[in-house]
Amino acid sequence: MAELPPLLTASPSDLSRAAELLRAGEIVALPTETVYGLAADALNPAALAKVFAAKGRPLVDPLIVHVADLAQLATIAQPDPRLAALAPLWPGPLTVVLPRLPVVPDLVTAGLDTVAVRIPSHRIFREVLSRVGPLAAPSANPFGYVSPTLASHVRDSLGERCPWIVDGGPCAHGVESTILDLSRSGVARLLRPGPVTRESLESALGAPVETVVHSAPSSQAQLAPGMLERHYSPRTPIRLFARGAEPDIPPAHAAVLLQSRRAAPPAGAEPFHLSESGDPAEAARALFALLRKLDRRGYEVIVAELADESGVGVALNDRLRRAAAR
Ligand code: AMP
Ligand code: MG
Repeated sequence: MAELPPLLTASPSDLSRAAELLRAGEIVALPTETVYGLAADALNPAALAKVFAAKGRPLVDPLIVHVADLAQLATIAQPDPRLAALAPLWPGPLTVVLPRLPVVPDLVTAGLDTVAVRIPSHRIFREVLSRVGPLAAPSANPFGYVSPTLASHVRDSLGERCPWIVDGGPCAHGVESTILDLSRSGVARLLRPGPVTRESLESALGAPVETVVHSAPSSQAQLAPGMLERHYSPRTPIRLFARGAEPDIPPAHAAVLLQSRRAAPPAGAEPFHLSESGDPAEAARALFALLRKLDRRGYEVIVAELADESGVGVALNDRLRRAAAR
């Protein structure tokens, strides 16, 4: 096996190298404020095909296209007047689904007439976007597995399938972007909960946002593929329990994943906590790294406490439920 190149840094010469590779149709893993993305030139079908191959991602699962600003957005999607109201939330961990323009390859949209777009805030990602143009970037992990929040996660799970990784340290949010569907006028639908809450979307838009409960069969083009019932899953089975409740610990080699440190953790399992104080943003940041760690430790089961169902706790619980689905 050929030796892999060292991780790229945020130095100007390394970012030039990353941009060069992307322009040449290669894939490069880049940090974002949510999770690490596996980036490719969004307008180059051969480059996009490499993303699907590296992830083992089904072609029916469309990709999010990242753009530097609204001017770049207007080259791939039909802008919507409501985007002006979302300005305070962008750049940031928010993806908006809009009608596509014909220039967008079918591989990006899985043949849908819409395209998902995001203006990320991460300095490194933005620097590369400004040099290369729109980049499609799903999470940089094998399809269905836990998303990467560190460069080492990408290397561990993709290895030689993605030799080029820019190391930007840990991701600030740790869960994937909120997805808002604005493709139909007069209707705003939340397709995936994320760091931007439904409440903040509603107050920005000044209009209600519908929540879509959706898990379509995986053989069809997905409305929002991250919404597949089973996703973000470690190999170890996960059982969930309500916040603050006393869990049933099975008679097995078990880990218990807690939202905050407890004076008396449940007996019969090794305790781990996502946050000292129960801060859901801190817990979200820690979730995927901890799931990966527990997965390596060979527990027979992970018993995980749900967060309070509010704020970013909604996204945290969404990921925990999908990780637990079998
Ligand atoms: P990930 O694999 O985590 O990067 O997720 C990519 C996400 O893009 C999916 O979870 C979908 O929710 C979303 N997506 C991409 N294109 C579309 C689209 N045209 N309509 C709705 N959702 C989309
Ligand atoms: Mg993903």
